[in-house]
Amino acid sequence: MPLYEFVCQKCDCEQELLVRGEEQPQCEACGSEKLARLLSVPAGHTAAPGPSLSGSGPPGSCGTGCGCFPG
Ligand SMILES: [Zn+2]
Repeated sequence: MPLYEFVCQKCDCEQELLVRGEEQPQCEACGSEKLARLLSVPAGHTAAPGPSLSGSGPPGSCGTGCGCFPG
C-alpha cells in the first residue's frame, strides 16, 4: 500500500498516511481532510554545485583526497 507524507493545512503537522485508491486521508491529530501531499524528494537536496575547489592546487585537481591530486 502506498505510504505518503502529508502536511495538515489546519494544524500544520506532518504525518505519513496510507492512501488507498481515491480515499481522502484525514489528519490524525485534528481530523481535518485538508492535507497536502508532500513530494517524496530528499529534504535539503539542491541542484546547486558544491563549494568551488579553485585556488587549491592546479586546474583539474579534485583535492588531496582524490587520486588525481599530483601531490
Ligand atoms: Zn491536523
